[in-house]
Amino acid sequence: MKDQSNFNPASNIQDLEQFGEFGGVNPAITDSATFTFMQAKTMLETFHGEAEGCFLYSRHWNPSNKFLADAMSALEGTEAAWVTASGMGAITNAIMQICNSGDHIIASRTIYGGSYAFLKNYLPKFNIEVSFVDITDLGQVKSNLKGNTKIIYTESMTNPLLQISDIPALAKISNDAGVKLIVDNTFTPMIISPAKLGAHIVVYSMTKFINGKNDCVAGAICGTKDFIASLIDVNNGTSMLLGPVLDPLRSSAILKNLHTLHIRMKQHSHNAMYLAKYLQNKGVKVIYPGLPVHPQYDLFKSIMNEKYGFGGMIAIDVESSDKAAELMEAMEKDGVGYLAVSLGYFKTLFSNSGKSTSSEVPETEQQAMGLSDGLIRFSVGLDDDIERTALKINKCLIDTGMIEN
Ligand code: PLP
Repeated sequence: MKDQSNFNPASNIQDLEQFGEFGGVNPAITDSATFTFMQAKTMLETFHGEAEGCFLYSRHWNPSNKFLADAMSALEGTEAAWVTASGMGAITNAIMQICNSGDHIIASRTIYGGSYAFLKNYLPKFNIEVSFVDITDLGQVKSNLKGNTKIIYTESMTNPLLQISDIPALAKISNDAGVKLIVDNTFTPMIISPAKLGAHIVVYSMTKFINGKNDCVAGAICGTKDFIASLIDVNNGTSMLLGPVLDPLRSSAILKNLHTLHIRMKQHSHNAMYLAKYLQNKGVKVIYPGLPVHPQYDLFKSIMNEKYGFGGMIAIDVESSDKAAELMEAMEKDGVGYLAVSLGYFKTLFSNSGKSTSSEVPETEQQAMGLSDGLIRFSVGLDDDIERTALKINKCLIDTGMIEN
């Protein structure tokens, strides 16, 4: 299944004609919370979403946010999008807009720790039940469907185990059951186009690859016009009422960074592939979906927009968190990158997932999903000379006694 063959996310963004008020090549930043009207009637119509192109109040829409949202919907090939103050703002709002008390969600058990904590610990307060499944086991997904299931939730490439979700198959299961498939595409922008593969809603932490500068936190929700309109409905829209709006100054900065995303993704992927092969040859246990030994390698190849590569994320398993700490400290000291959470930055970032971004997942569940104590997740940077970086990692592996000289 490869419905994406003619879909070019980078060209879609490039073709947008977004100008500033005075012909500026970058859209002007609208730093206004509220907007004035010449006629009281138009204000009322705008309130009820009937005055296309009119802006009322920036928690609802702001022109700078609209430019970025339009670019995000061009990236995903969805009818519309809305931008949020964080990735968690996007995830929680999309879910809460769909679910009511008494509903049920099926979620991948390997997902970002914050998303896991929201589903596992927070939603029960609203009487929303969540079943966590191995998302690569479609039989398990199907057998967990119930009459009150409203959402199947997954990540295209899961955090931190880098499993690949079979989005076309999950979309079919969702459509047959009349439920919404929400896909977090934070790890694989441009590489995977979930909406083109059948996902109903695509969510992002734009904090990561989309912005790529690690200077702000932001998110996006991409979907149909009706769904986006429902989120910002003044009477009962989750985003309008909970208010996780993105600051327009940030929107403007992220929009400019989005225009280099295709170049950055190719370089992240190139560097990650180099390191994955290099470390594999050194006998290190490597997880990278671009290696043929990865269990979903063929699936990934069949759904990806190939020219952007297999992504910038790799994971290695050094067996214990103590060894992971030792290696990460050595790598930071030797200039491989930074011991830090997050991803999609121009420098390489690494962290011990079980003790950081997945620490919300109880240890017993970490073991059940195959998350080793010694897993180090790398977000590989944009290094011009990745061979030099590989040699630095090699030295750290030797210095810490993890491989022989
Ligand atoms: N989704 C994924 C896959 C993530 O890795 C993260 C954060 O690390 C988030 C969502 C949350 O995004 P944010 O920190 O922008 O709220």
